[in-house]
Amino acid sequence: MNLSFWELETYFRNIDFTIIGSGIVGLSTAYHLRKKHPNAKIIIIEKGMLPEGASTKNAGFACFGTLSEILWYLESNSEEEVYKLVERRIKGLQKLRSLIPDEKMDYQQLGGYEIFRENDRELMHKSFNELERINSWLKTIFKRNVFQKSHKNFGFNETIGMIETEFEGHIHTGKMMKNFIKLVVSNNISILNNVEVININDSENEVEIELKNGFQFNSKKVFLCTNAFTKKLYDLDVIPARAQVLVTKPIENLPFKGCFHMDEGFYYFRNTGNRILFGGGRNMDLEGETTTDFATTTLIQNQLETYLREIILPGQKFEIEHRWSGIMGMGSKRNPIVKKLSENVYCGVRLTGTGIAIGSIVGEELADLVD
Ligand SMILES: Cc1cc2nc3c(=O)[nH]c(=O)nc-3n(C[C@H](O)[C@H](O)[C@H](O)COP(=O)(O)OP(=O)(O)OC[C@H]3O[C@@H](n4cnc5c(N)ncnc54)[C@H](O)[C@@H]3O)c2cc1C
Repeated sequence: MNLSFWELETYFRNIDFTIIGSGIVGLSTAYHLRKKHPNAKIIIIEKGMLPEGASTKNAGFACFGTLSEILWYLESNSEEEVYKLVERRIKGLQKLRSLIPDEKMDYQQLGGYEIFRENDRELMHKSFNELERINSWLKTIFKRNVFQKSHKNFGFNETIGMIETEFEGHIHTGKMMKNFIKLVVSNNISILNNVEVININDSENEVEIELKNGFQFNSKKVFLCTNAFTKKLYDLDVIPARAQVLVTKPIENLPFKGCFHMDEGFYYFRNTGNRILFGGGRNMDLEGETTTDFATTTLIQNQLETYLREIILPGQKFEIEHRWSGIMGMGSKRNPIVKKLSENVYCGVRLTGTGIAIGSIVGEELADLVD
């Protein structure tokens, strides 16, 4: 690799902050570093042609947890911890909406629904019994009752009950990311695509960064925003978790709008215009889906289609337009890792399935770790 004097001078000399990964966390970290350091030289290095992990692949739910998820958290965490988790997601969504105006990412608060089927009868009764208590406990965050029993009928099959919340919304993931990138670039931050970092070495004065194409450069500080791919650079408790999705062709008279969670959150669907976006099914093959390979499998895609046919759109015709997968970062705990790893290296990773809610706030917290 023989870069010119101009290229070296402009992009690779005297770098203050290098962010690895241009997902929602990397973009937010860069943006918040700029706010605190107006004259710093900041670059983002991204291995994909586009961000290539979860941020441009997700389902676009702007959610904070279903009632049964909150009850499940309460089984193994203190009330204070769970309260903070919900509060953080709500604050994170507010932060995202303050950075990217609603109309630029098609934010629509059409409500969210948790669907209970025969297998969930016990869970449903438990959730109904706890509904009032959880509503009054979370009132300081939402100001009104957050959950209520739903009496709506969308024609779903095998459904014995639903809980709804008016506070859940959804976004157009592509528009959100496109506008976030625009915001970052307009703040004089360079994003270099199609370059993979293969090694970082903190020499205490600065960090040496080695790229897959053989080029090496130095940066004063480095931020790992590499989520599912972190282990390739640093040994942290982050495990890749592939998630598969499909989207239908437009459906005439689609009988519902909003976000829906089913089978304890293992399946999720929403409308996007008059199409259905449907994802989930990782629980059918947890071992096979513990991978950083982008692919769809017949096993899981067939299950998604079966649920569409038998539960969500019984008796209605639909066609699948497109299928894809993205890779989430999971681990033994559900909270993100935001910390200093060595003198000049920091990380904000393990965003699980909640990056839309907390991604922008994690970036802000990460930027705040540096003086
Ligand atoms: C199918 C699917 C559906 C989801 N649905 C939702 C949802 O509805 N709501 C919600 O809140 N969350 C959802 N999520 C989760 C959400 O998308 C993630 O939590 C969030 O995007 C994580 O953001 P991130 O910036 O941490 O990671 P990523 O978006 O994965 O970004 C990490 C970036 O780092 C880059 N990178 C990694 N290693 C290197 C390297 N060595 N060199 C250069 N670049 C590197 C990657 O290419 C990638 O672009 C979903 C995820 C998936 C996959």
